[in-house]
Amino acid sequence: MYKLLGMVLLINTALAAEPEPFDIMVHEIESGQRYFFSIADYKTALLELEAALPPGDTERQHMLDRLRCQLGYSADAIAGIAYSDTKIQQAKQRNDHAALSDYYVCRYYLYSQLGQTQLAEQQVQLSYQAASDSEDPLSIAISLSLLGNIASYRGNYADAMQHYVMAYQLQRGLGYKPYISDLVMAIAATYRRMGLYQDALSYIEQAELEFNQPDEKFRNALIMHEKAYSYAELGQFEQALSLFEQAMTVYQQLDEPLWRTYSKVNMVWIYNLLQRYPEALQLATEAKAELSQLNAPDLSALATYQGLLALYTAEALVATGEAEQALDKLAEAEQQLQIDNNPRYMLLLYNAKATALAETEQYRQAYQQLRQYVGLNHQQLQLSREQQSNVLRFQFDSVRQQERNKQLEAEKQLAQQHVSTLQLAQRWQYAALTLIVLLVIILLAFAVSLKKRNRKLHRLAMTDELTQIANRRRIMMQADKERVKAIDTLEPLCFLILDLDHFKQINDRYGHDTGDTVLQQMCMTVAAMLREQDHFGRTGGEEFLIVLPNTDAEQAVIIAERLRLAIAAIRFADGPQALNITCSLGVSQILPDEALNTSLARADDALYQAKAAGRNRVVVSPESD
Ligand code: GH3
Ligand code: MG
Ligand code: MG
Repeated sequence: MYKLLGMVLLINTALAAEPEPFDIMVHEIESGQRYFFSIADYKTALLELEAALPPGDTERQHMLDRLRCQLGYSADAIAGIAYSDTKIQQAKQRNDHAALSDYYVCRYYLYSQLGQTQLAEQQVQLSYQAASDSEDPLSIAISLSLLGNIASYRGNYADAMQHYVMAYQLQRGLGYKPYISDLVMAIAATYRRMGLYQDALSYIEQAELEFNQPDEKFRNALIMHEKAYSYAELGQFEQALSLFEQAMTVYQQLDEPLWRTYSKVNMVWIYNLLQRYPEALQLATEAKAELSQLNAPDLSALATYQGLLALYTAEALVATGEAEQALDKLAEAEQQLQIDNNPRYMLLLYNAKATALAETEQYRQAYQQLRQYVGLNHQQLQLSREQQSNVLRFQFDSVRQQERNKQLEAEKQLAQQHVSTLQLAQRWQYAALTLIVLLVIILLAFAVSLKKRNRKLHRLAMTDELTQIANRRRIMMQADKERVKAIDTLEPLCFLILDLDHFKQINDRYGHDTGDTVLQQMCMTVAAMLREQDHFGRTGGEEFLIVLPNTDAEQAVIIAERLRLAIAAIRFADGPQALNITCSLGVSQILPDEALNTSLARADDALYQAKAAGRNRVVVSPESD
């Protein structure tokens, strides 16, 4: 299964790598890469295509039929039209709009050759219709450029320009350079015919930049040719002559006889303008001989050049005093130029005829020619003015459209910028908010920890380090608080001062560490025996204060006794077996309005008496009763 797939892929790649020679040839013809200078060139191409056609290939057969119309009937237009009639019916049946468009284009050329301008123009309309139906950009572009040619020929330069520009844009998309250069030339020529020489030159210069490769010599020569026309019209005859000469040299190198001879005809025109009549006449003789040898594919173009050459020869003859001979030439010119009936050339003809007739003293006829000249010239000027304003409007419209597009683009960018600025601002806002929230959390955490720390510090500041009970500061505060409370409530309040007996000896005998342990053990015992509302604190080395709220002296003595016995009963686990300890206690009950210190001093006095009486006892201050 996989092997099979692999083989199929291989075959496909092989096909993709080597396209059919037939297709390559078709592409060369369709893209305009292959040039046809003569009827013989057409015949050769057709024979090559027939040889390359793979047998039984219907699709390619259709393609060959399409090309046959243009390649096979240039010498026999009537047969070509009959051929296309059948093919158009067939293409209609299979709904092949692109083929239809091709056949109508072919018929346009065939009818043009027969001089049936009206019918020819109809074919272009039909071709454009079919091309639009096919939606094939190449077909549309080709029929549009033909519509442009017709409009230009009719003097509708503004319409022509619109068709050309659309075709130009399509061809730019397709990238077929020969067609692109043809269209640039057509646009330039249209501008030139309207007298907008600078516009023409700017288009030509653009084309020059684009078609300057060595393999585009022929295109480049055509460009020089067109440029020469514009210079001639601008009165820069030397430049025009030089350009025609250069173009002619290139055509010579390329062995392109038709265009070489056309260049010569144009040089005759320029020699006349430069009043170099002998050179004009000499070149005219050469050109005439060459023209008679040529069989151009476009017979009307050939006829026009023959007519123009006769006209220019006549002008040179008039200038050199051969007016009689000139009149013969002008008759010849008229015959040829009437085929195309190009008004610009007809004007030249009337003018030349008037001059030649005047030279031969046929003033009446000369006057007739001048009248014709003036009439046609007036008509042409009017048309030209009309068209110029149309083109200016067209140009203005497209410039305005471009401006509008630019403006829209700028507005879009501005809006986008605004949106992104807003987004950025919003992002910053979010970031700032997040930061603020974080900061608040951190501050809160900090505050909480600070408070904890403060509380701890406070506790530390109020706690005795060794025994973990209230220190002197704290117990004194508590004592005073209870004093104030006792005044308010009229409840009794007692103080006990407790001092260990001969504690110095304990230290001396068992060491300071044991002394510390004794102090800790003793405090735990006392704390455990006191009530919730009582306070206990260390006021000195081995001296303690106990505050007993809502307790009178009698009760206080009982409590003190209980404490004394409990302390005496402590057996110190870590210490030596013999170690026991006693304490003495002084008791005072605070008197109404008595100061704290006074009351405590009385308790201290009682303690002193207890010590003096032999220690290990409780003495109550006498004023407490
Ligand atoms: P008295 O029965 O008269 O009260 O005799 P005493 O030895 O207890 O009295 P005195 O005031 O002369 O000595 C107190 C001793 O307590 C002095 C000191 O060595 C000891 N003492 C004070 N504070 C501490 C303490 O924090 N740790 C220890 N181990 N001993 C302390
Ligand atoms: Mg003591
Ligand atoms: Mg003491």
